[in-house]
Amino acid sequence: MASVPVFSAAARRLEGKVALITGGASGIGEYAAKIFTQNGAKVMIADIQDDLGQSVCKNLGPSVASYIHCNVTNEAHVQNAVDSTMAQYGKLDIMFNNAGIGCYPKPNILDNTQSDFEEVIKVNLVGPFLGTKHAARVMIPAKQGSIITTASTCATIAGVAPHAYTTSKHGVLGLMRNTAVELGKHGIRVNCVSPHVVATYMTKTFFDLDDEDFANIYSNLKGAMCKKEDVASAALFLASDESKFISGHNLIVDGGFTIVNPAFS
Ligand code: NAD
Repeated sequence: MASVPVFSAAARRLEGKVALITGGASGIGEYAAKIFTQNGAKVMIADIQDDLGQSVCKNLGPSVASYIHCNVTNEAHVQNAVDSTMAQYGKLDIMFNNAGIGCYPKPNILDNTQSDFEEVIKVNLVGPFLGTKHAARVMIPAKQGSIITTASTCATIAGVAPHAYTTSKHGVLGLMRNTAVELGKHGIRVNCVSPHVVATYMTKTFFDLDDEDFANIYSNLKGAMCKKEDVASAALFLASDESKFISGHNLIVDGGFTIVNPAFS
């Protein structure tokens, strides 16, 4: 009888793998870098917050984590981040397109300017396009890889976030599905992880909150909020071989919120 792989929470689920994480200097990306390395991966953190990114790497340990400055809206930067990962670690198994921005709430379309809209689309949608493209460039010859993009519950529900954010995250799902179809024959899986509200720096800007309001909302909403580790654990699953038959999937991490809350039904 063929041996069946046994996966357990205690195992190092990314042993020997190499991951590039955009937006890894803070929030969900920072937590993902932590649990990816704890599970045996080497990570390259790509971000625009250089001091923060370097300090995250220092804490994780220079033997398992490196930092590279990369604005995900700039193709040359993304190309360089992928090439530097290859040069440093010899391969790229996991691309985590996680960098993203929120936007100040302007619920009425008439209040939104073209530049407001384009800024969010560039980071949240063009960024994952460039990350997916350049990851595919090196994963196709390797005939394997897992590409994960952080979408959002706003990728499948409407009326909760501003137009640009909702549009960017719906777009990310389309990109993920199209590339999953194309890249499957090369052994590359492409998926999204979709959190509901997580208490990170982005949430503060998203709701235009000062520190006190943020603390109050966080304490009121605590039970309905995702934690960074919930999202990072879902990304870990999609990155690992445990999900080797899963592609084109949007893994929603919201505690059932978007299904059960009548406000969204
Ligand atoms: P965060 O602000 O803590 O982290 C985002 C990171 O992305 C930061 O380190 C930031 O410097 C980086 N970044 C921003 N613009 C960049 C650019 N142009 N190039 C490279 N890096 C850039 O926020 P977070 O909540 O951890 O966000 C991570 C992802 O999760 C985003 O894609 C966001 O849309 C998504 N998300 C967040 C929530 C939430 O409630 N926080 C909910 C759903 C989805």
